[in-house]
Amino acid sequence: MSSHASTPAAGSAHTLPSYLQADNLGPWGIYLQQVDRVTPYLGHLARWVETLKRPKRALIVDVPIELDNGTIAHFEGYRVQHNTSRGPGKGGVRFHQDVTLSEVMALSAWMSIKNAAVNVPYGGAKGGIRVDPKTLSMGELERLTRRYTSEIGIIIGPTKDIPAPDVNTNGQIMAWMMDTYSMNVGATATGVVTGKPVDLGGSLGRVEATGRGVFTVGVEAAKLTGLAIEGARVAVQGFGNVGGTAGKLFAEAGAKVVAVQDHTGTIYNGKGLDVPALLTHVKANGGVGGFAGADSMNPGEFWGVDCEILIPAALEGQITKDNAGKIKAKLVIEGANGPTTPEADDILHDKGVLVLPDVIANAGGVTVSYFEWVQDFSSFFWSEDEINARLVRIMQEAFAGVWQVAQEHKVSLRTATFIVACQRILHAREMRGLYP
Ligand code: GLU
Repeated sequence: MSSHASTPAAGSAHTLPSYLQADNLGPWGIYLQQVDRVTPYLGHLARWVETLKRPKRALIVDVPIELDNGTIAHFEGYRVQHNTSRGPGKGGVRFHQDVTLSEVMALSAWMSIKNAAVNVPYGGAKGGIRVDPKTLSMGELERLTRRYTSEIGIIIGPTKDIPAPDVNTNGQIMAWMMDTYSMNVGATATGVVTGKPVDLGGSLGRVEATGRGVFTVGVEAAKLTGLAIEGARVAVQGFGNVGGTAGKLFAEAGAKVVAVQDHTGTIYNGKGLDVPALLTHVKANGGVGGFAGADSMNPGEFWGVDCEILIPAALEGQITKDNAGKIKAKLVIEGANGPTTPEADDILHDKGVLVLPDVIANAGGVTVSYFEWVQDFSSFFWSEDEINARLVRIMQEAFAGVWQVAQEHKVSLRTATFIVACQRILHAREMRGLYP
C-alpha cells in the first residue's frame, strides 16, 4: 500500500465515533477485525480497503404506532447500505429487542461480503427494528411493518436496495412491505423485497434456501475432509427457518441430530431426534422446549455435546473464548450471521476444528433471493427443481473457489472468503472510480 493511500485512513481513525472503532467488542468491531485480517492479502486493492470500513449510508427512523390499547409507542428502526459497488443493496430486516445501529452495520457489511462471495450482483444492506415482536398483536405488527417500510421508502426500491426476511420476519411481513412500498409509488412493485409468499411473486425454494445452502457446503466440506455424513452426530442451535431445514436435510442424508438448543430450551437424544416430529412440535409450541422425544439438558452443556457437526443457526456472538474450548465437533457450519468471535475462531483453528463461515455457509438464502428478484423482473417463474439445482451449483462452485484460496494462502476459510469477496468488491470500486 502506498503512503499516499494509507495516510487518510490512519489520520481519520482516531476521529471515528466509538461505534466505528475496532475495540468496540460488538459485531461491528468484530467485522473490522475480520477486514484487518484480510488486508495483507489484497495487494494493490488495499488502497481502497477503507471503503469497507464504513457504511455507505445509514438511516435511523422513528417508527410510531398506535397500540391496541390506544396508547402510542415509538420504536427505533434502521436501514444500512454498507456497499453498492457491485449492485443494489441487498439484505434482510430483523425484528429483535437487541437490535442496534452497530449490529445492523455489521450485518449489512457481512451481506456485502456474502453477496460478493457467491458472486450475485448485489452490494450489502440490512435493516432492523428494536422490538420484541412476540409482545405485539398481528395488527400492531402490521402497523409497525408498514410505518417502517414507509420511513425507509426513500432509500429502498427494486433497483436501489431490496430487503428480505431475517430473524423474526417472514413472508407475511414481506407481503406488507411490498404492499406499502407499492401503495406509496402507485404501482405494484414485487421486486422491492424478496422472501415474499409464492402467490405474490415469491420464489419456490426460498424458505428452505438458507438451510439447503448450509447442508450443501457441509456435504462439500465433509467430502474434502473424509467425514461421513451417514451416522454423523449433529448439534444445532436455533431451530427456525435455517437450523430446522438444515437439521432436516442432514437427518434425511443419514446423520443423527442429537442436540438442539433454542430460546425455549436445550434438548438431547443420543439415538438421534425425530426431526419431522420436532419440526411439528416447534411449529405448534414456538420452540423445542418440552419436546417429548428427548431429555432436557442444561444450556451450558450444549457446546460440549459429543458430535461431529455443530450448526450455530441463531444469533451472533454465541461461540466465544469461554465455550470454544469445549467444542468436540470436527466441523462448525455457521447458519447464523456472526456466531463466532475472532478469539473463538483462533481457538477452534488451533484445535483443528474446521469452521465454514457464515459469509459462505448461509449465502443460500440470498442466492435464492437473487433468483426471486430476477423472476420478478422477467415475470417468468422457474420450477423448484431448477431453483434447487442452480442454488446447489452456485454454492458448490463458490465453496470450491474459497477452499482453493484457503489452501493457497494457508488461511482459514473465513479469511479466504473475505479475500475472494473483498477483491471482487474493491475491484469494482476501483473500476468505477471516485465521483466527482
Ligand atoms: N437475511 C438473510 C441473510 O442474512 C437473507 C438476505 C436476503 O435474502 O436478502 O443472508
